[in-house]
Order: sequence, then structure tokens, then C-alpha cells
Amino acid sequence: MFKGITRLLNFGEHLKSLHPDNGQAVTTTPRIIPRTEHPISRQHISDAALKVLYRLDSAGFDAYLVGGCIRDALLGKMPKDFDVATSATPEEVRDLFRNSRMIGRRFRIVHVRFGRETIEVTTFRGKPQEEHADHIARQSDAGLLLRDNVWGNIEEDARRRDFTINALYYSIADCSLHDFANGVQDMETRTLRLIGDPETRYREDPVRMLRAVRFAAKLDFTLDPITEAPIYDLAPLLLQIPPARLFDEVLKLFMAGHGLMTFRMLSHYDLFGMLFPEAEEAMADAAWVEDLIEAALANTDRRIAEGRPVTPAFLLAAFLWAPAAARQAELKQNGMPDVPAMQTATQQVISRQLHHVSIPKRFGMPVRDIWELQARLGKRQGKRAFQTREHPRFRAAYDLLLLREQAGEIPAGLGDWWTAFQQGDEHEKRRLLSKVGSDPASQGKRRKRPRKRKPRPRVEE
Ligand code: ATP
Ligand code: MG
Repeated sequence: MFKGITRLLNFGEHLKSLHPDNGQAVTTTPRIIPRTEHPISRQHISDAALKVLYRLDSAGFDAYLVGGCIRDALLGKMPKDFDVATSATPEEVRDLFRNSRMIGRRFRIVHVRFGRETIEVTTFRGKPQEEHADHIARQSDAGLLLRDNVWGNIEEDARRRDFTINALYYSIADCSLHDFANGVQDMETRTLRLIGDPETRYREDPVRMLRAVRFAAKLDFTLDPITEAPIYDLAPLLLQIPPARLFDEVLKLFMAGHGLMTFRMLSHYDLFGMLFPEAEEAMADAAWVEDLIEAALANTDRRIAEGRPVTPAFLLAAFLWAPAAARQAELKQNGMPDVPAMQTATQQVISRQLHHVSIPKRFGMPVRDIWELQARLGKRQGKRAFQTREHPRFRAAYDLLLLREQAGEIPAGLGDWWTAFQQGDEHEKRRLLSKVGSDPASQGKRRKRPRKRKPRPRVEE
């Protein structure tokens, strides 16, 4: 960690006097901030990232750190991962590193692995021309970038990055910082500003709207008004994005410790409903739904702050609980019994959700379990409470139950019972169970075993 941001901010003041423009245009001559005038040093860079940078450099390529790692280091945070930008093509990068592989079709990059750390290496992007083949550069009629694999130089690369603060490059050759878009100034004023014309940039890639909200919430930055204005109208463009890409983005939005703030901002810009339309509808129907979602996000943020494990399954279960419960109620009204009604509702809600944000099976299965356990938590007689307690998703299901009570969907009581049951010794557990018998609300209906028919004796005539 370092205190250098103050020095950098002073430098920003100095820059402002030199360049009073609005910061959205990319200059072909960057402001080069020498190593003595910015706070980033090798100390902030992981060994793996340094290895990648040095090897590219000694093979004669340009190599820079760019993006989140530089941004976070300037803000005094330890970078969590490292993105490298280089003049080497993906093939050249792959040939330099045995431990590497090329990924992505729309946006081809190379992942270089060192143990558990992966360094993302991206070739400088250039401006697509008419003559480029479809697999290199392709744009839909509406402006969406379907392929973005034209190589270019560093200035062109800077122009194609999203925000000014994400277009700061740290050169491994002389440890200087290259600022093409007044990113330093925007760091100083904590402003999130898109490079270029915002509407065009959102149409090229609507995920940039989510990224705008994510960075604003995470860094406590303000969206520049020109960057902010088109979002309300363009939010529906997110419907064009493949659900698998949106799932990756959802993880970054809600699992990085600022989920509640991010959710509020997404809702404000009408973006949340593009990701979870049924949750959005349910929020309009009943007040407790939003309280439940907010409480789940606050819970996840708290756990992350405390360094405790979190799973996206819990959040997804909370986001989609209201639509699942409403669907179950409908099916029950049509005469379907409890358990199959829950199973059918689960199936329907999840499969509709998959059109928007995909949910990999490893998270979809636990979501189902957490929902199905909601009914089982009410049925505690005999050995049932002990069995439910042993279920691998018990803890998440119990947490959801507490939030449902807290949000006012159901009356309080059952949650406290389970809290006491988990904490109590054997004697206390028995005592709690004995109370269950006299409480008709908590009794589960006994499942009738289908009676085995005795084979009819053959009557010989
Ligand atoms: P973090 O890793 O903390 O989420 P980041 O800014 O590093 O933030 P990445 O997704 O790792 O985000 O991307 C690295 C860099 O690549 C960004 O800083 C930005 O310069 C560029 N970039 C990423 N996604 C886009 C995009 N959709 N459009 C334009 N540039 C992008
Ligand atoms: Mg990054």
C-alpha cells in the first residue's frame, strides 16, 4: 500500500492547468508521467505480471499494465489482478509463454497462468476498416461490436477502452505512466467518464452500462452527466447480450463487496430489470420483495467484508424467490400439491431466467435446494428437524428464511426457533421439538405412503 495518491493528485492539478479540455477525447500524444512523479512501483505488481511484462519487453514488444490494476493502485488499493496490453499479437504471446492459452472469439485475448494467478494479455486494438474479414471485425447494423480483433497501436488501443480512468498505461520499459484521455484528472475528481461519444460506445457494447454502474459503486465515483444521460434509454440494449456473458458480469456486480450499492444504482438506471425481469416485476407487486433482495445483498457484502465465504446461489435464490413463490401459489390454487408445485415453479422461473442471465448448473442446483428447503424448515416433527439440519444447503436456506421474516413476507418465529435449535444442546433440542407438536402451524402434513396392494389370491375354480 502507498500514500502516493496525494502526490499524483498534485500532479493532476498541474495537468488541469495545462489541459483544461473535457477529457473525453483521446490524445495521440499522451501525457507521460515519469516514474518519480507517480506512486506506482514494482512493489504493487505481482511477480507473475512482472515476468510477463519483462519477457514481452525483452522479446522486443511494447508491454504495459493497464486497467483495473493501475486504477486500484492509484487509489491506494492492492490490485486484485493484472491486465497487460502489448504490441505482440495473440499468437506471438502464446509462442512466448508455454503456460498460455488463447480465449474469446468476440474479443481474443491470451491468458498466461502462473500457479493460481492468471495474467490477461491483450493485443493493442486498432480501428476496423471496411476490408477486414468478418472473423476479425464485425458490427451489427445497430452498432453492436460482434468481433473486435483488429490490431493497432497504443493510441488506437486507448481510444477503444471504456473509461478514461481505465486508459492509464504503466510502461515496463521506463516505469512511466501514459495518460491518453485525462484519466489522471478524472481520478482526482472521482469522475467516471466514457471515452468518445457515450451513445456510440454503449451501442457498441451495452455491457459498458453495467461497468459504469459497477465502477461508480465500487470506487465511489460519480458518473459524468454526459456519460450518464443515455443509460436510461439504452438500458434495453442489454437484452442483446448473450446470457453467459451477463452471468460473468452479474458475479462482478454483486460478489465484489458493494452489491447493495450496485443494486440501488442498477435499479435507478432501469438496468436491474434487464438482468432479472421477473424479480423486477415482483418488486412492483409487493414491498417486501425489494427489502428481501436488499437484505440478501447487505448480508453478502457483510460476509465479504469479514472474509467469510459467499456463494452466488444464495443471492440468486433471494433475487428469484418472490417469482418462484408466486408461481407455486398459482399452481397450488390450480390444485397441485405443495411439493410438485414448488418443483414446477422452480423449473419455470429458472428456465425463464436463463434467457437473460445464464445460471450454471453448479449454482442452479443449490438455488433449487434452498427454495425447496423453505417448506421443509416448517416441518420439524420427529426426526425431520435433524434431517433438515444435515442438508448441505441448510445454512443458506435458514439464512433466506431469516431474511424473509425480516422483510415481512412471513411472520417472525420460525427463524428464531431454528436459531435456538442450532445453538441448543441435546436437552434443549428435545425441549424445542416437544413444543413443535403443540404448534399446529409448524406441523408438516404426513406423507401418506402408498399402501401396497396385496396380490389378489388366485382363485382356482
Ligand atoms: P476489474 O478487473 O477491477 O473488474 P478492470 O477495469 O480491470 O476492472 P477488466 O474487465 O479486467 O476490468 O478489463 C481490463 C481493461 O480492459 C479495462 O480497464 C478497460 O480498459 C478494458 N475493457 C474491459 N472491458 C471493456 C469493454 N467492454 N469496453 C471497452 N474496454 C473494456
Ligand atoms: Mg482487470
